[in-house]
Amino acid sequence: MRKGKFYIKTFGCQMNELDSELVRRMMEERGYEYTDDPKEADFVLINTCTVREKAARKAKHLLRYFSKREKTTVVMGCLAQQEKGKLLKWGADLVVGTRAFVEIPDLLENLNGSGVVCEEIGLHYRTDRRLNPGQYSAYVSIQYGCDNFCTFCVVPYTRGREYSRPAHEIVEEIKNLDSQGVVEITLLGQNVNSYHDGKYDFADLLKLVEDTIRNIKRVRFTSPNPRDFSYKVLKVVAESDVITPWIHLPLQSGSDRILRKMNRGYTKAEYLDQAAMIRDLMPYGTITTDIIVGFPGETEEDFEETLDVVRRVKYDGAYMFIYSPRPNTPAARYSGQVPYEVKLDRQRRLIDEVNRGIYERRRLFLGREGEVLIDGLSRKDPSESAGKLFNGLTVTVNGRYKPGTFVKVRINGIQGLTLKAEPLVVALR
Ligand code: SF4
Repeated sequence: MRKGKFYIKTFGCQMNELDSELVRRMMEERGYEYTDDPKEADFVLINTCTVREKAARKAKHLLRYFSKREKTTVVMGCLAQQEKGKLLKWGADLVVGTRAFVEIPDLLENLNGSGVVCEEIGLHYRTDRRLNPGQYSAYVSIQYGCDNFCTFCVVPYTRGREYSRPAHEIVEEIKNLDSQGVVEITLLGQNVNSYHDGKYDFADLLKLVEDTIRNIKRVRFTSPNPRDFSYKVLKVVAESDVITPWIHLPLQSGSDRILRKMNRGYTKAEYLDQAAMIRDLMPYGTITTDIIVGFPGETEEDFEETLDVVRRVKYDGAYMFIYSPRPNTPAARYSGQVPYEVKLDRQRRLIDEVNRGIYERRRLFLGREGEVLIDGLSRKDPSESAGKLFNGLTVTVNGRYKPGTFVKVRINGIQGLTLKAEPLVVALR
């Protein structure tokens, strides 16, 4: 039996953050001690992402770095699922796939020499997990995997087929979190709005969660897909005072020709109708998005279509990526790969256009009152605190408040693209 200190480095999405949190909990229950300082660690776990080349490269360098320093190195996450045994050559002692991470403590205890475990071991999320001290917000996985096979995306190959957790299991986990004093949860999945456990669809699940919670004040969810959005879901969100009116609506491209090549399953017109429906139902809600520039074959006309959607929707936030060919994805083999400097130029113009819309949207909130859930001190000014409004917008508030505190505010300014507010009333947790 080998015990000792362990360190976890997490790359990528919230799904990875949740998986890392669960692995940490399991390791601590087995008597390993967590350290934030990798130099002290005997075991280094790297939870990887491969959605873009940069993330994959960073993880490999970190692996090589730690394997040279006599650390027992474990690679988990999407790069592990994608590369499997190849990572042993980079110095990994254990490579564990996206649906096998729950086995890491056992695998480490029986490790004699290096090993690879990537086959499905029946992923089950615990409903009785304990939280870190002071933790006021928690992720809850409702679904994993994806069946959509967008032609640029690795997720269906690294996280497998779509599976929706039984609603009763999710509700049980949320009851447990609620009883531990959590005030905010985020429901996680690759396509949350295609959730269906055979009995309940996503709108039903949101209603179940809404009826279950007592202490939790905010229920967020990510990531939905425009192709599966229903009026039923939007109505549940719009009529709720706990489900936050923040809708992440990944566009990816505004050109119907490129959307077809991406296999996204919706058209520009359908997407605009959905965005208009969201604005009608939740005028002070928020819409954020993901956009890829430079997808193979993208012309200046196609890119203009994307800019047109951005001008018409006026997003509240956006993640804007340069297309990065991913191993085993159809788009990586497409002709018409766009030159890097053209991608860079389009990304720069896209950012300018998106920010114009964001600034216009921010002005709508000037003078309005709201409640901010404090996340911590403002990075720019430690005499201020930063947090999120009910609709997910970030706000800085005068004063130093404890994370997890709710502060009633009036929005009185905009700095860059961040709202500024003055406190009205402080509600202690
Ligand atoms: S919906 Fe498309 S982009 Fe999203 S995870 Fe699935 S395949 Fe990837």
